[in-house]
Amino acid sequence: MRHHQSLPPTPRRPLRLAATAALLCLGLAGCGDGGGTAQAQAGPSGDAAGTPRATSAAPSPSRPGAASPSTSPSKAAPSGSAAPTGPLAGRTVVIDPGHNPRNHLHTAAINRQVDIGTGHKECDTTGTATNGGYAEAEFTLDVAHRLRDLLRAQGATVLLTYDGDREFGPCVDERARIGNKAHADAVVSVHADGSAVGNRGFHVILPAAVRGGGADTSKIVAPSRDLGTRIAGLFVRSTGSSPSNYVGGKTGLDVRKDLGGLNLSTVPKVFIECGNMRDPEDAALLTSPGWRQKAAQGIADGISSYLKG
Ligand code: ZN
Repeated sequence: MRHHQSLPPTPRRPLRLAATAALLCLGLAGCGDGGGTAQAQAGPSGDAAGTPRATSAAPSPSRPGAASPSTSPSKAAPSGSAAPTGPLAGRTVVIDPGHNPRNHLHTAAINRQVDIGTGHKECDTTGTATNGGYAEAEFTLDVAHRLRDLLRAQGATVLLTYDGDREFGPCVDERARIGNKAHADAVVSVHADGSAVGNRGFHVILPAAVRGGGADTSKIVAPSRDLGTRIAGLFVRSTGSSPSNYVGGKTGLDVRKDLGGLNLSTVPKVFIECGNMRDPEDAALLTSPGWRQKAAQGIADGISSYLKG
């Protein structure tokens, strides 16, 4: 997230390839839900009724926790269905897929400065990519979908800050407000880093104590640390990945005061940088659907552990 400013913009070719893959997925059973799901959730955020858009949106039968396609991008429970059951029933989780695959087409809009309480920052950034061209924003959406399905299978109400349904953004301040308005019990912003070769591993970013303008994290610092610590521990267990060897002193935890998405949150929230897209060994993991499922499982386990106390 933070490390992208000096990096070249997201390559465009892989985005086109990803779109092609999504189209191919329409007619295939067992497609990963990265591209395929995005097809299903194209409803505008104002589409409160969550009108199904595509017959191809049917969730894979192999994933019993998959949500109904009638769900609108930011809405949790399919209308007309029974109340969710499970250990997380009644709990609300907001997942924030970092960046947007189309941000690079809207540089003026995403470079607009927004108020993050303690100062100003860009609305959003393009994110990084692997050397092979797999964009961070594709990664974050894919993990978000997997995470959403895992949490819904436990009965949680799950919202995404966006789901392939907008041209750019949301801006970081809006991403924070979405969690706040939902009165989320936990928010996780999913990212992958763009750092030097040899820098490996994941880290969870916790909000620092900040106050200024519209920012006051005093009430979320402690619960966010609890949330983030559980995610870090269970991410290790699920993925076998080691905590970052370049941030956080190998604790897997970092504290930041410069992220609008954390500064403006009034509900427990963390970021996770799942690995370093610029390192070939980490990239091999990040580009693997099987590994992404393990990553989502680790994050889900951490959230679940936190919510169950
Ligand atoms: Zn990022």
